[in-house]
Amino acid sequence: MPRIAASRDKVLFTPGPLTTSMTVKQAMLRDLGSRDAEFIALARRIRKGLLALAQDEDGDYEAVLMQGSGTFGVESAVTTMVPPDGHLLVAVNGAYGHRIVIIAERAGIRVTAVECPENRQLEPYELARALDANPDVTTIAAVHHETTTGIMNPIASYGILARERKKVFIVDAMSSFGGVRLVPAEHNIDALISSSNKCIEGVPGFAFVIIRRALLSTLRGRARSLSLDLFAQWEGLEANGQFRFTPPLQVIMAFARALEELQEEGGIAARESRYRENNRILREGMRRLGFREYVPDVLQGHFITSFLYPANPRFNFERFYEMLSNRGYVIYPGKLSKVDCFRIGNIGRIFPEDIRALLAAVGEVLKDMNVSLLEAA
Ligand SMILES: *Cc1c(COP(=O)(O)O)cnc(C)c1O
Repeated sequence: MPRIAASRDKVLFTPGPLTTSMTVKQAMLRDLGSRDAEFIALARRIRKGLLALAQDEDGDYEAVLMQGSGTFGVESAVTTMVPPDGHLLVAVNGAYGHRIVIIAERAGIRVTAVECPENRQLEPYELARALDANPDVTTIAAVHHETTTGIMNPIASYGILARERKKVFIVDAMSSFGGVRLVPAEHNIDALISSSNKCIEGVPGFAFVIIRRALLSTLRGRARSLSLDLFAQWEGLEANGQFRFTPPLQVIMAFARALEELQEEGGIAARESRYRENNRILREGMRRLGFREYVPDVLQGHFITSFLYPANPRFNFERFYEMLSNRGYVIYPGKLSKVDCFRIGNIGRIFPEDIRALLAAVGEVLKDMNVSLLEAA
């Protein structure tokens, strides 16, 4: 696909917010009333577009937009969906799984975390065992792509368990939806959450929840918060197409353009190929420079990669980061509890040539720092 006009901003190799196309940014250069027919039509179109991406062919799902960042969407889903006397079980192998646990605790929801180390997947049998031990669990939550490490979690197996045990299944698919085939109906997912600024390549400002209508329609009065009430938000959008409270208009205009650009690129399959290619070039290039990955190959997703700090005592991450940033490349610090890592994302409006340019810059910076990883290895 043609590369859309470059800007002079630094290139973001982060898990979001991401580098966006010039045309997505330009879509924001307007004022529009939040009760204007044009805006209402735009929000409708986006909701339909999201359901099409989720391949909701039977029309069983609803897409609800929620102001705020991705976490607001997760908090809205969790605090609206878990019943008052419910019990939430969360599969945790990183910071985002852990965040769901904290959201529940804050809201006074009974919650059990089933945890495993950050460098592996929680095995379905471990989840099954936790369900055996906690028969009163009503709801299961899991993270699809754990952005902490870059690990893909076995959502399909968790979904089968959820169906067998008749549990509601909530998936944080924040950093994967739009960049890999993910069909809620196929994986028994009752609610899936993602946001405007990840694989759909919009700008930050709202989250969305793709949720089974038959379940959503039972959630009146369930929310533990006014502004994050997923049912009331849906009801408002359905009644007159309006948001209950000020919508992020410009973000929504940018997102509509981002959805068009996803189609122009060739849909999710084409975007997945570009991300996979970016990721392959990144990992091969970094290995050639002497870096080692934290995540085993078989668990690694194609969105973000964690690299171990090299053992060389002259390597200093803060300097490494700054020298890359000065050259126009923004990478991401690690978020692991026990191991020193940094992360490089390969999603957003970036292409193989951007990855190659980053790799060349990493090579230069290592030289400037007088760090030779290949000798040390
Ligand atoms: C980005 C992300 C979130 C949400 O983060 P915000 O900073 O609130 O947008 C949640 N879960 C995962 C897995 C993410 O990657």
